[in-house]
Order: sequence, then structure tokens, then C-alpha cells
Amino acid sequence: MIDDIFCKIIKGELPADKVYEDDEFLVIKDIHPQAPVHLLIIPKKHIFGMHDATQELLGQAMMVADKVAQHVGVVEKGYRLILNEGEHGGKLVPHFHIHLLGGKALGTKIVK
Ligand code: 5GP
Repeated sequence: MIDDIFCKIIKGELPADKVYEDDEFLVIKDIHPQAPVHLLIIPKKHIFGMHDATQELLGQAMMVADKVAQHVGVVEKGYRLILNEGEHGGKLVPHFHIHLLGGKALGTKIVK
């Protein structure tokens, strides 16, 4: 049985600061925010990563990101989406998720 930390949040076994929810996705505030706005777009179904994701899921995740970006007011100034995959990508939680960062100028560097 898959029991990563995001599965536990989705099941209500762990608390989280929820920003948006629908039948397929949950969006929460990151517990260690790297920007004034740092949200995690998480599919409710356990999907490990890109290899397991469908075209439909990826499209839906982007649509949710856009909807939530509008909801939290970062569309006008802009925002960044990040998807970490694997060891070199710095993925820590083994459950597909997209980071949405904004609320300040994030700069042009993608890698420190
Ligand atoms: P990754 O490196 O896997 O792409 O990022 C995982 C993110 O999940 C990190 O930014 C981390 O701060 C966040 N995170 C880890 N555990 C929790 C948690 O229990 N609650 C919330 N809200 N975020 C978490």
C-alpha cells in the first residue's frame, strides 16, 4: 500500500493548509515555503512521477495551476511552476506534484 506524506494529507490523516480542492486534485501550501506564494498541486490518486502520469493528468494539473494562480493573485506579476523528478531533480516526496511559486521576483536562474 502506498502511504507517502501526500497520500496521508489527501486521506485527512495529516493536516495541511488547503488552498483548492476538486475531485482529482488538492492544492496545499508548502510547509517550507521558498517564496511568499509556494503551493503544491497534487493529484489525489497516487501517481509516483512523470513515468506514471497520463497526458490527461498533466493537462489537468496545468489547468489547476492556472486556476489557483488566478485565485491567489499571482497571474498579473507572474509565477513559476517546478516539477522535481528523481534524485538529481531533487524530488523528496514520492507522489507526483507541481510547485507553484510566486509573490516576488524569482530571478532568472533555474539552478543555483
Ligand atoms: P520535492 O522536492 O519532492 O519536489 O518537494 C516536496 C515538497 O513538499 C517540499 O517543498 C517540502 O517542503 C514539501 N513538504 C514535505 N512534507 C510536507 C508536509 O507534510 N506538508 C506540506 N504542506 N508540505 C510538505
